[in-house]
Amino acid sequence: MVGRAMTASLVASGYNVVSAPRAALDLTDQRAAFDWLAAHKPDVIFMAAARVGGIGANKDYPADFIRDNLSIAQNVIDGAHRAGVERLVYLGSSCIYPKLAAQPISEDALMAGPLEPTNEAYALAKIAGLKLCQFYRRQYGRAYVSVMPTNLYGPHDNFDEDGGHVIPAMMAKFHRAIVEGRNTFALWGTGRPLREFLHVSDLAAALLAVCERYDGEAPVNIGSGEEVSIADLSAMVAAVTGYKGAVNFDAAKPDGTPRKLLDSSRMRALGWKPRISLREGLAQTYAWYRAGAPSVPSRKTA
Ligand code: GDP
Repeated sequence: MVGRAMTASLVASGYNVVSAPRAALDLTDQRAAFDWLAAHKPDVIFMAAARVGGIGANKDYPADFIRDNLSIAQNVIDGAHRAGVERLVYLGSSCIYPKLAAQPISEDALMAGPLEPTNEAYALAKIAGLKLCQFYRRQYGRAYVSVMPTNLYGPHDNFDEDGGHVIPAMMAKFHRAIVEGRNTFALWGTGRPLREFLHVSDLAAALLAVCERYDGEAPVNIGSGEEVSIADLSAMVAAVTGYKGAVNFDAAKPDGTPRKLLDSSRMRALGWKPRISLREGLAQTYAWYRAGAPSVPSRKTA
């Protein structure tokens, strides 16, 4: 999702993009990663590749999440250095910050407290990647920077009901309920956690601004500032999809961290601001999903 949005934004800005899609290059394979980097020697690397998933996938597959993300970070960052790549923008996540960090979360909260257990494995791998960037800068003078985006969504997300993040999983669930004519289904947790969401096109613009205007050891948070409860989000997704039935929250499923609103003032100081409101972004993303999803039967008019 991020790679595609980033490619579109770079091409629109006149850059020459070479990408390494998963099917063509396995970045957990060190030899393959090193060879690809040595052969292409890009001027800049945007490191969006990762094993990602929603709260359910993170909780159920912690070994896979830490293993793949550690090896991707190490292979790409070390491989970039060996290939003489000067500039690299590494993508982390807002889940690297302590579960109970003061809100909005500033970059200084890093490692100031215990992590949220449901995504500890992913967070630790992402912290290691951030530290790799800092240490290659310190030891070898490489201009490698890292950014910490908030919860992202948009076209090409993973719309799997069990493995995806909350927005695509909700869209898929609401959509299926409409197609199957059901009037009730369950979402996860209590509905009370607060989340901040950013459309992936806004992220792509931010990454370009970071690449062109930022060169420092400290990570840069990237958030929209637009925070909603999961229950309010479900009402917005219901409105966007046209679902009129009831929604239950299954409190036996995990809530995750209660709140993770980023302090994005460092990013704002680079002259970036988000352009797509959550409501607008949800409508655009659902239209994209619907264009490739099973059709919704037209409603009978009485
Ligand atoms: P998180 O931000 O790392 O917790 O990742 P998610 O995007 O997976 O989940 C965000 C919040 O949405 C959590 O509080 C979940 O319990 C809640 N949620 C409610 N329904 C769903 C669902 O169907 N899928 C997912 N992934 N989360 C859901």
